[in-house]
Amino acid sequence: MHKFSSCDGCQLALLNLGETLLQLAQMVEFVHFAEAGPVNPEAIADIAFVEGSVSTPEDKERLERIRSNSRFLITIGACATAGGIQALRNFANTKQWVAAIYAKPEHIRLLDRSTPIAEHVKVDLELWGCPVTARQVLGALRALLFGVTPAQEQDKVCLECKRRQTVCVMVAKGLPCMGPVTRTGCGALCPSFGRDCYACYGPAENANTTALSRRLEGLGLLPEATTRRFRFINCGAPAFREAQPPAPEKTNG
Ligand code: SF4
Ligand code: SF4
Repeated sequence: MHKFSSCDGCQLALLNLGETLLQLAQMVEFVHFAEAGPVNPEAIADIAFVEGSVSTPEDKERLERIRSNSRFLITIGACATAGGIQALRNFANTKQWVAAIYAKPEHIRLLDRSTPIAEHVKVDLELWGCPVTARQVLGALRALLFGVTPAQEQDKVCLECKRRQTVCVMVAKGLPCMGPVTRTGCGALCPSFGRDCYACYGPAENANTTALSRRLEGLGLLPEATTRRFRFINCGAPAFREAQPPAPEKTNG
């Protein structure tokens, strides 16, 4: 389990398993999992989980070593799969931000962009979410232990709501829900509590961001607010990064 720029929340999803984690430890050997105990970042491993985005020159070098030491590499969470919330700086001038935030910016060595792991090395499986759930991580591990390639979740949150018979919060409450373009995996958690999805699982397959932007406009969102709905936790994912609010309609005269 390797960490790059991240909040550690995805690793916590695994640590929170409690007793199940102890059972898992009887089936696999954890060779490097600093939050849980064993520290050996250069260990050769069958499966490497990678949390976090690439933000510094040292990250790039470390990641390449991890890739060459691992048979199957799985990214966990929005940081690792899309650059995370920290990729918001990709839309700004990093040097100006560093100068504004740090008392001694000359000590900070950063790459200009915060990037997902797949921009640097081959990734065998991406588990999306902020954070991922233990169910996702265990599902991937179980499949690999049986010699099967883990399945990718591609459906949209909307489909999950229909399966669970959750009332649509966009239709019933007029909330700006991102479910129509967001990958499921969370079990449509937010709508099941009457809240709008904010897309923490990233873009689903064939996400129609243009249609959703028009719908959000119809709900009264200004173009800047629509852009912010897409450019959030998964702002580095191409479908969300490139989503545009609808152009204002031309009026005659
Ligand atoms: S994806 Fe979310 S929970 Fe996971 S490390 Fe990044 S910020 Fe934390
Ligand atoms: S409903 Fe949306 S915001 Fe809520 S947990 Fe699921 S993907 Fe994340």
